[in-house]
Amino acid sequence: MGTAVDTAKEVNGSSLSEKKLTVVFVLGGPGSGKGTQCANIVEHFGYTHLSAGDLLRAEIKSGSENGTMIQNMIKEGKIVPSEVTIKLLQRAMQENANDKFLIDGFPRNEENRAAFESVTGIVPEFVLFFDCSEEEMEKRLLGRNQGREDDNIDTIRKRFNVYMESSLPVIQYYDSKGKVRKIDAVKPVEEVFEAVKAVFIPSHEKTA
Ligand code: UDP
Ligand code: MG
Repeated sequence: MGTAVDTAKEVNGSSLSEKKLTVVFVLGGPGSGKGTQCANIVEHFGYTHLSAGDLLRAEIKSGSENGTMIQNMIKEGKIVPSEVTIKLLQRAMQENANDKFLIDGFPRNEENRAAFESVTGIVPEFVLFFDCSEEEMEKRLLGRNQGREDDNIDTIRKRFNVYMESSLPVIQYYDSKGKVRKIDAVKPVEEVFEAVKAVFIPSHEKTA
């Protein structure tokens, strides 16, 4: 019979690492186009899209005991404790038969990044970074009307601050490892996707 430690280990990663998963982190500020482009990548390259924000919003809706805490943090633009987000991501990967995942909007700070790596043993293949001006991101967030409680100017400002202070350092960390594929995300959706495609198409196929 397994001990509590063994059980925790199984849940925490061994079954995931055995699967040899390919994970791409999709990062960029709020409104930089992560979700939109992930939908295109899924369609063309067979990845499964996991949006950390969507998983957290689903957790609120499901009436989970963490729901109120998550809802309050999202409303303040704060980063939900790693433990909560990582469990949701792990579960989603375990429940899906695919072996290629786009993880969108995570990791958002150094602690997220380190905790995910140590808990799952997964290191991202690369990081797709949507580089967008704050002016453009603000315009998109205020214009998108998805009924999100955090798409108001007060929360948007807070999200920008958290992004600059906590999330950009994560991108810089991966850049120092040569893992960042930077995309100019200010352009129209189709043009941005052309640049994204060039990242996902293996280099030997690009010449034709
Ligand atoms: N969030 C979080 N951890 C994550 C992803 C999202 O705490 O790993 C919270 C955070 O409060 C964030 C909100 O969910 O501001 C919305 O995130 P989402 O990625 O959906 O928004 P985006 O940045 O794409 O506009
Ligand atoms: Mg999103």
